[in-house]
Amino acid sequence: RPRSGAEIREAFLAFYEARGHRRMASASLVPDDPTVLLTIAGMLPFKPVFLGQAPPPAPRATSSQKCIRTNDIENVGRTARHHTFFEMLGNFSFGDYFKEEAIAWAWELTTEVFGLDPAHLVVSVFREDDEAAALWRDAVGVDPKRIIRMDEADNFWASGPTGPCGPCSEIYYDFHPERGDDGIDLEDDSRFIEFYNLVFMQYNRDAAGTLTPLARRSIDTGMGLERMAQILQQVPNNYETDLIYPLVEAAAALAGVDYRALDSRAQTSLKVIGDHSRAITQLIADGVTASNLGRGYVLRRLLRRVVRHGRLLGIDRPFLAAMGEAAIELMAAAHPQLPERRTVILAELVREEARFLDTLERGEKLLAEVLAARPERIGGDAAFELYDTYGFPLELTQEIAEEHGLTVDLDGFEAAMERQRQRAKAAAVSIDLTLQGAIEQVAGALEPTDFRGYEALDQAACVL
Ligand code: ATP
Ligand code: MG
Ligand code: MG
Ligand code: MG
Repeated sequence: RPRSGAEIREAFLAFYEARGHRRMASASLVPDDPTVLLTIAGMLPFKPVFLGQAPPPAPRATSSQKCIRTNDIENVGRTARHHTFFEMLGNFSFGDYFKEEAIAWAWELTTEVFGLDPAHLVVSVFREDDEAAALWRDAVGVDPKRIIRMDEADNFWASGPTGPCGPCSEIYYDFHPERGDDGIDLEDDSRFIEFYNLVFMQYNRDAAGTLTPLARRSIDTGMGLERMAQILQQVPNNYETDLIYPLVEAAAALAGVDYRALDSRAQTSLKVIGDHSRAITQLIADGVTASNLGRGYVLRRLLRRVVRHGRLLGIDRPFLAAMGEAAIELMAAAHPQLPERRTVILAELVREEARFLDTLERGEKLLAEVLAARPERIGGDAAFELYDTYGFPLELTQEIAEEHGLTVDLDGFEAAMERQRQRAKAAAVSIDLTLQGAIEQVAGALEPTDFRGYEALDQAACVL
């Protein structure tokens, strides 16, 4: 029975390979798709196939896809199961097999390969999907009390307002079956964890919202590698699995603390550092550099959160290179491009950390002054100054504000940002980009400021 993260990944891929799926390498975190910032699911590289815009690589495929979900940033360390970077194991049918096989195999894999006891499993189906409910009950033999019907919000997938879509069915692990089958609430994460989602693409939705059955029905699934590791390693959260815990320990060693002896707040800081260290290392390896735009901003935001949580733990010297080294070492076997790009990764971490440290202390001082005045909320101008002069991502200011029970005046922030944009635009209009040093000219033409590090250049690049 697989136990380590590496064994779980291999067991999943081998299981589907033995069932006629082509094993595909993970695609980049930077998608080949202008409509999305980052790869958020295993199906993303296959989206053109599902939309009928590209031929399938094979009738069936399986992969372990690197993913980043920024919508889960706030959940990191607060829930036991959410990461920014994680791997999604998937099996896909491109107009080949459908619901019956997908359900039967998911169950076989879960109970026979991963060895989970059916008494610990619960499945969800879309409210109207009688077919899936019947398959779980009759073909697989799941107790009807443990087949939960869910609404569209949770159990219906669509890639957009029109196009292929269909119901989903999820498998949850139940940590406490002794609590009984009555009134099961799958949202209760002290009891349940979702680990496998099966999407049955069976309709096309037109502009009027009408669903018509697809001639070629498809399957898209996702299993969180770290979640299966949590379950099989019998640890209380994803961060304590072998896929991340070495990074938690590395951060704890740098801070001179013992994870097990800490309160939950400090443990959360270590979890954030462990989680984000994987994400930033992988992002840089896939060609992202820190900036104030798009995915560059995601990288910057994650990286600055690592630095800040390090400081909360008492780490007062640069430490991102050490975390980067540890992350590369931890993930090298599964992700050989990490050691290959080691120099680039470490250089970017060091450079961006230095940029931030330069202004962080002064920014923290400003923020402390603002907080000392006991405001009702943090003003937009202060938040903008922190962003613009001190490189505090807005979300970081919000997070610190929240720790003090405050909110940030977002409209005021936006207004200050807009004023800055107008000034930059006015300065940029007459610049000929083909001239040498054009960027420097634009930067020079921006309002004189105290030292802004490289932010001014990013701002200028953003306007251009
Ligand atoms: P949740 O409800 O727990 O947020 P989800 O429904 O958003 O999960 P899906 O979009 O269905 O997740 O993704 C498929 C699978 O990927 C999930 O069943 C889970 O195992 C895994 N997964 C999703 N989001 C994360 C995350 N942020 N960190 C780790 N694993 C994740
Ligand atoms: Mg989610
Ligand atoms: Mg869910
Ligand atoms: Mg889901």
